[in-house]
Amino acid sequence: MTAADVPAIWVVDLDGVVWRGREPIPGSAAAIARLQAEGRTVVFASNNSAYTAAELEAKLNAHGIRSLGHAVTSSMAASSLLHPGETVLVVGEAGVVEAVQAAGAEIRSEGPVDTVIVGITRRFDYAMLRTAARALHGGARLIATNTDSTFPGPDGLDPGNGSLVAAVATAGGRQPDAVAGKPHAPMVDLIQARYGPVGVVVGDRDDTDGRFARALGYDFALVLSGVVTEADLPIDPAPRWLAADLAHLLPPVPGYELTPGD
Ligand SMILES: [Mg+2]
Repeated sequence: MTAADVPAIWVVDLDGVVWRGREPIPGSAAAIARLQAEGRTVVFASNNSAYTAAELEAKLNAHGIRSLGHAVTSSMAASSLLHPGETVLVVGEAGVVEAVQAAGAEIRSEGPVDTVIVGITRRFDYAMLRTAARALHGGARLIATNTDSTFPGPDGLDPGNGSLVAAVATAGGRQPDAVAGKPHAPMVDLIQARYGPVGVVVGDRDDTDGRFARALGYDFALVLSGVVTEADLPIDPAPRWLAADLAHLLPPVPGYELTPGD
Protein backbone atom coordinates (compact mmCIF):
# COMPACT_ATOMS: atom_id res chain seq x y z
CA MET A 1 0.00 0.00 0.00
CA THR A 2 1.36 3.41 -0.89
CA ALA A 3 0.73 6.56 1.15
CA ALA A 4 -1.81 7.71 -1.48
CA ASP A 5 -3.83 4.49 -1.00
CA VAL A 6 -4.33 4.76 2.76
CA PRO A 7 -8.10 5.05 3.33
CA ALA A 8 -9.81 7.02 6.11
CA ILE A 9 -11.77 4.03 7.44
CA TRP A 10 -10.06 0.81 8.57
CA VAL A 11 -12.26 -2.07 9.69
CA VAL A 12 -9.91 -4.41 11.51
CA ASP A 13 -10.59 -8.01 12.45
CA LEU A 14 -9.16 -9.02 15.82
CA ASP A 15 -8.17 -12.70 16.04
CA GLY A 16 -5.44 -13.30 13.48
CA VAL A 17 -4.83 -9.58 12.89
CA VAL A 18 -4.37 -7.92 16.30
CA TRP A 19 -3.81 -11.03 18.39
CA ARG A 20 -3.73 -14.82 18.08
CA GLY A 21 -5.64 -16.08 21.11
CA ARG A 22 -3.82 -14.43 24.00
CA GLU A 23 -0.65 -13.57 22.07
CA PRO A 24 -0.25 -10.14 20.46
CA ILE A 25 0.79 -10.10 16.80
CA PRO A 26 3.99 -8.05 16.79
CA GLY A 27 3.67 -4.56 15.33
CA SER A 28 -0.14 -4.49 15.10
CA ALA A 29 -0.73 -2.25 18.13
CA ALA A 30 1.88 0.22 16.88
CA ALA A 31 0.37 0.18 13.39
CA ILE A 32 -3.08 0.95 14.81
CA ALA A 33 -1.68 3.79 16.94
CA ARG A 34 0.03 5.20 13.87
CA LEU A 35 -3.20 5.12 11.82
CA GLN A 36 -5.08 6.83 14.65
CA ALA A 37 -2.34 9.47 15.02
CA GLU A 38 -2.61 10.12 11.28
CA GLY A 39 -6.34 10.81 11.69
CA ARG A 40 -7.71 7.53 10.31
CA THR A 41 -10.65 5.81 12.00
CA VAL A 42 -9.87 2.26 13.07
CA VAL A 43 -12.99 0.17 13.67
CA PHE A 44 -12.61 -3.08 15.62
CA ALA A 45 -15.08 -5.64 14.26
CA SER A 46 -15.47 -8.92 16.14
CA ASN A 47 -17.81 -11.85 15.63
CA ASN A 48 -17.21 -12.83 19.27
CA SER A 49 -20.59 -12.15 20.90
CA ALA A 50 -19.37 -12.85 24.44
CA TYR A 51 -17.61 -9.52 24.97
CA THR A 52 -19.41 -6.61 26.56
CA ALA A 53 -18.27 -3.23 25.26
CA ALA A 54 -16.21 -2.74 28.43
CA GLU A 55 -14.63 -6.21 28.21
CA LEU A 56 -13.57 -5.68 24.62
CA GLU A 57 -12.18 -2.26 25.49
CA ALA A 58 -10.24 -3.81 28.40
CA LYS A 59 -8.77 -6.53 26.17
CA LEU A 60 -7.71 -3.94 23.58
CA ASN A 61 -6.19 -1.80 26.35
CA ALA A 62 -4.27 -4.81 27.65
CA HIS A 63 -2.68 -5.02 24.18
CA GLY A 64 -1.84 -1.30 24.23
CA ILE A 65 -4.72 -0.33 21.92
CA ARG A 66 -7.44 2.28 22.37
CA SER A 67 -10.73 1.74 20.51
CA LEU A 68 -11.77 5.41 20.80
CA GLY A 69 -15.37 4.15 20.80
CA HIS A 70 -15.04 2.27 17.51
CA ALA A 71 -15.68 -1.35 18.51
CA VAL A 72 -18.48 -3.40 16.96
CA THR A 73 -19.43 -6.96 17.91
CA SER A 74 -21.89 -9.48 16.48
CA SER A 75 -24.03 -8.93 19.61
CA MET A 76 -24.43 -5.26 18.69
CA ALA A 77 -25.32 -6.26 15.13
CA ALA A 78 -27.88 -8.80 16.42
CA SER A 79 -29.49 -6.23 18.71
CA SER A 80 -29.92 -3.83 15.79
CA LEU A 81 -32.63 -6.27 14.61
CA LEU A 82 -34.67 -5.86 17.83
CA HIS A 83 -37.31 -3.29 18.70
CA PRO A 84 -38.09 -1.81 22.13
CA GLY A 85 -40.35 -4.00 24.24
CA GLU A 86 -39.71 -7.15 22.22
CA THR A 87 -39.30 -10.25 24.41
CA VAL A 88 -36.06 -12.18 23.97
CA LEU A 89 -34.64 -15.46 25.25
CA VAL A 90 -30.83 -15.25 25.32
CA VAL A 91 -28.54 -18.22 24.87
CA GLY A 92 -25.20 -16.49 25.31
CA GLU A 93 -22.92 -14.42 27.50
CA ALA A 94 -22.95 -10.91 28.93
CA GLY A 95 -22.18 -9.32 25.56
CA VAL A 96 -25.52 -10.46 24.16
CA VAL A 97 -27.42 -9.53 27.34
CA GLU A 98 -25.93 -6.02 27.33
CA ALA A 99 -26.73 -5.42 23.65
CA VAL A 100 -30.31 -6.73 23.99
CA GLN A 101 -30.94 -4.47 26.99
CA ALA A 102 -29.44 -1.48 25.16
CA ALA A 103 -31.96 -2.06 22.37
CA GLY A 104 -34.80 -1.75 24.92
CA ALA A 105 -35.88 -5.37 24.53
CA GLU A 106 -37.02 -7.44 27.50
CA ILE A 107 -35.11 -10.58 28.46
CA ARG A 108 -37.14 -13.62 29.57
CA SER A 109 -35.81 -16.88 30.95
CA GLU A 110 -38.26 -19.04 28.99
CA GLY A 111 -40.85 -18.85 26.20
CA PRO A 112 -43.18 -17.73 24.89
CA VAL A 113 -40.95 -14.97 23.48
CA ASP A 114 -40.72 -13.05 20.23
CA THR A 115 -37.08 -13.92 19.58
CA VAL A 116 -34.38 -16.39 20.58
CA ILE A 117 -30.82 -15.09 20.18
CA VAL A 118 -27.96 -17.61 20.21
CA GLY A 119 -24.41 -16.48 20.92
CA ILE A 120 -21.36 -18.40 22.09
CA THR A 121 -21.44 -19.66 25.67
CA ARG A 122 -19.38 -22.30 27.41
CA ARG A 123 -22.33 -22.95 29.75
CA PHE A 124 -24.43 -24.42 26.94
CA ASP A 125 -26.23 -27.56 28.16
CA TYR A 126 -29.26 -29.77 27.55
CA ALA A 127 -31.64 -27.70 29.69
CA MET A 128 -30.68 -24.54 27.82
CA LEU A 129 -31.14 -26.32 24.49
CA ARG A 130 -34.59 -27.55 25.54
CA THR A 131 -35.72 -24.10 26.69
CA ALA A 132 -34.57 -22.48 23.44
CA ALA A 133 -36.09 -25.21 21.27
CA ARG A 134 -39.45 -24.94 23.03
CA ALA A 135 -39.50 -21.18 22.52
CA LEU A 136 -38.98 -21.82 18.80
CA HIS A 137 -41.79 -24.43 18.82
CA GLY A 138 -43.93 -21.67 20.32
CA GLY A 139 -43.30 -19.43 17.32
CA ALA A 140 -40.23 -17.36 18.25
CA ARG A 141 -37.84 -16.29 15.49
CA LEU A 142 -34.20 -17.36 15.70
CA ILE A 143 -31.30 -14.90 15.44
CA ALA A 144 -27.71 -16.17 15.46
CA THR A 145 -25.03 -13.67 16.44
CA ASN A 146 -22.72 -15.57 14.08
CA THR A 147 -22.33 -19.05 12.64
CA ASP A 148 -18.57 -19.59 12.76
CA SER A 149 -18.30 -23.37 13.14
CA THR A 150 -15.02 -23.31 15.08
CA PHE A 151 -12.39 -20.89 16.33
CA PRO A 152 -8.72 -21.41 17.18
CA GLY A 153 -8.24 -22.51 20.80
CA PRO A 154 -4.93 -22.73 22.65
CA ASP A 155 -4.43 -26.40 21.71
CA GLY A 156 -6.67 -26.95 18.67
CA LEU A 157 -10.01 -25.91 17.20
CA ASP A 158 -12.82 -25.20 19.66
CA PRO A 159 -16.55 -25.37 18.82
CA GLY A 160 -17.82 -22.00 17.63
CA ASN A 161 -21.27 -20.49 17.89
CA GLY A 162 -22.34 -22.12 14.62
CA SER A 163 -22.22 -25.43 16.46
CA LEU A 164 -24.60 -24.16 19.16
CA VAL A 165 -26.90 -22.56 16.56
CA ALA A 166 -27.06 -25.89 14.69
CA ALA A 167 -28.15 -27.69 17.87
CA VAL A 168 -30.86 -25.11 18.65
CA ALA A 169 -32.05 -25.02 15.03
CA THR A 170 -32.23 -28.82 14.86
CA ALA A 171 -34.13 -29.19 18.13
CA GLY A 172 -36.35 -26.20 17.41
CA GLY A 173 -37.12 -27.20 13.82
CA ARG A 174 -36.30 -23.72 12.53
CA GLN A 175 -33.31 -22.39 10.62
CA PRO A 176 -31.96 -18.96 11.70
CA ASP A 177 -34.13 -16.10 10.47
CA ALA A 178 -31.03 -13.88 10.56
CA VAL A 179 -27.30 -14.18 11.14
CA ALA A 180 -25.91 -10.92 12.50
CA GLY A 181 -22.10 -10.99 12.38
CA LYS A 182 -19.57 -10.75 9.58
CA PRO A 183 -20.12 -11.16 6.61
CA HIS A 184 -23.89 -10.84 6.99
CA ALA A 185 -26.25 -7.91 6.41
CA PRO A 186 -26.84 -6.67 10.00
CA MET A 187 -23.10 -6.07 10.62
CA VAL A 188 -22.71 -4.65 7.09
CA ASP A 189 -25.60 -2.24 7.63
CA LEU A 190 -24.28 -1.19 11.05
CA ILE A 191 -20.80 -0.41 9.69
CA GLN A 192 -22.10 1.40 6.62
CA ALA A 193 -24.52 3.50 8.68
CA ARG A 194 -21.73 4.62 11.01
CA TYR A 195 -18.74 4.87 8.69
CA GLY A 196 -20.01 5.33 5.14
CA PRO A 197 -19.34 3.63 1.81
CA VAL A 198 -15.53 3.76 1.48
CA GLY A 199 -12.93 1.88 3.51
CA VAL A 200 -10.77 -1.19 3.84
CA VAL A 201 -11.37 -4.42 5.75
CA VAL A 202 -8.21 -6.01 7.18
CA GLY A 203 -8.62 -9.68 7.96
CA ASP A 204 -7.02 -13.11 7.99
CA ARG A 205 -9.83 -15.09 6.33
CA ASP A 206 -11.49 -15.06 2.92
CA ASP A 207 -14.76 -16.61 4.13
CA THR A 208 -15.57 -13.98 6.74
CA ASP A 209 -13.35 -10.93 6.16
CA GLY A 210 -13.11 -11.15 2.37
CA ARG A 211 -16.83 -11.67 1.95
CA PHE A 212 -17.49 -8.93 4.53
CA ALA A 213 -15.38 -6.47 2.52
CA ARG A 214 -17.23 -7.41 -0.66
CA ALA A 215 -20.64 -6.96 1.01
CA LEU A 216 -19.56 -3.55 2.36
CA GLY A 217 -18.10 -2.48 -0.99
CA TYR A 218 -14.79 -1.88 0.85
CA ASP A 219 -11.35 -2.99 -0.30
CA PHE A 220 -10.03 -6.21 1.23
CA ALA A 221 -6.53 -6.43 2.71
CA LEU A 222 -5.43 -9.94 3.61
CA VAL A 223 -2.83 -10.50 6.31
CA LEU A 224 -1.06 -13.85 6.67
CA SER A 225 -0.83 -13.63 10.48
CA GLY A 226 -3.89 -15.81 11.14
CA VAL A 227 -5.85 -18.58 9.45
CA VAL A 228 -4.97 -18.16 5.75
CA THR A 229 -1.36 -18.93 4.89
CA GLU A 230 0.72 -18.52 1.74
CA ALA A 231 -0.08 -22.15 0.84
CA ASP A 232 -3.82 -21.30 0.63
CA LEU A 233 -3.35 -18.64 -2.06
CA PRO A 234 -5.02 -17.65 -4.31
CA ILE A 235 -8.26 -17.07 -2.41
CA ASP A 236 -11.68 -15.76 -3.38
CA PRO A 237 -12.50 -12.91 -2.89
CA ALA A 238 -9.02 -11.88 -3.99
CA PRO A 239 -7.51 -9.23 -1.72
CA ARG A 240 -6.51 -5.86 -3.14
CA TRP A 241 -3.56 -5.92 -0.76
CA LEU A 242 -1.62 -8.76 0.82
CA ALA A 243 0.94 -8.53 3.63
CA ALA A 244 2.54 -10.70 6.30
CA ASP A 245 0.75 -8.70 9.00
CA LEU A 246 -0.91 -5.35 9.69
CA ALA A 247 2.40 -3.57 10.30
CA HIS A 248 3.70 -4.61 6.88
CA LEU A 249 0.46 -3.58 5.16
CA LEU A 250 1.05 0.09 5.89
CA PRO A 251 3.29 2.15 3.65
CA PRO A 252 6.79 2.51 5.04
CA VAL A 253 7.54 5.67 6.99
CA PRO A 254 10.16 7.73 5.11
CA GLY A 255 13.51 7.49 6.85
CA TYR A 256 12.48 4.42 8.86
CA GLU A 257 13.58 1.00 7.63
CA LEU A 258 11.57 -2.03 8.73
CA THR A 259 13.88 -4.73 9.95
CA PRO A 260 13.08 -8.44 10.06
CA GLY A 261 10.98 -9.18 13.14
CA ASP A 262 9.53 -5.69 13.38
MG1 LIG B 1 -9.74 -13.37 12.18
